[in-house]
Amino acid sequence: MNELFSLDGRIALVTGASAGLGAHFAEVLADAGAQVWLGARRVDKLQALQSELRAKGGKAETVALDVTDAASVQHAFDTMREAGAVPDIVVNNAGVGLGTPALSTSEQDWDQVVDTNLKGAWLAATEAARRLVAAERKGSIVNIASILGERVGAFVAPYAASKAGLTHLTKALALEWARHGIRVNALCPGYIATDINRDFLASEDGDRMRKRIPQRRFGEARDLDGPLLLLASDAGRYMTGTAIAADGGHLVSGL
Ligand code: NAD
Repeated sequence: MNELFSLDGRIALVTGASAGLGAHFAEVLADAGAQVWLGARRVDKLQALQSELRAKGGKAETVALDVTDAASVQHAFDTMREAGAVPDIVVNNAGVGLGTPALSTSEQDWDQVVDTNLKGAWLAATEAARRLVAAERKGSIVNIASILGERVGAFVAPYAASKAGLTHLTKALALEWARHGIRVNALCPGYIATDINRDFLASEDGDRMRKRIPQRRFGEARDLDGPLLLLASDAGRYMTGTAIAADGGHLVSGL
């Protein structure tokens, strides 16, 4: 493998690593050599994943983290610091979905989606960057956005708005932090079966959607491995402020 893809000596934090894509991303980064900190609210789930990764020879640690809570984010970074770890890769993966018509969406629903998907990424990115700048170290922040940040679908207004905001935030932070050697990019997955969407994808509406994807299939978590490693590692060292879609061509489906 090209040595630029190696993550030996790197320290990564994956938010929302207790399930779904986050658990997979953690495994991919650990396989590439990074010490991976698994961050989420369900510490018991993280510890199970930590044991799995360690059993494979990976370097994995666990930290309690609620990305919607600034004090929790700061505490997580302090905990890592006490263990001698300042993450130079942050994968802002924690996210929640919501499939309701706009007219039945409550203020609490809006807050939960936007606070997790957008404010949560902001809190973790700024906390990481502050510490990297102070330590004069480079870094890479990978925000897990969505193709729903680029095009809309019905019944996902707060989610789509939060992901569009996350992609724009990515560009704004990339502009400010390039001078510090901190790259910020977004990875925009298409539809991949996880807890966030499993019921919908298995429904008739889901199957109709599948047929509109140019590659005629939903994605698998491993379809994201290449883009994730590219953005996280030095292989993507001249990339910042980009948003890469991995979606089987869904964004270019015919109108
Ligand atoms: P998932 O529901 O399986 O996982 C989401 C993870 O985020 C869970 O581990 C959950 O515990 C964690 N989380 C939620 N709120 C949190 C909080 N406040 N603090 C810390 N962790 C929190 O869903 P997934 O499909 O694995 O989604 C992962 C990311 O990928 C999300 O940002 C999602 O929007 C994005 N995404 C997913 C798809 C897809 O098709 N699955 C497509 C595009 C984007």
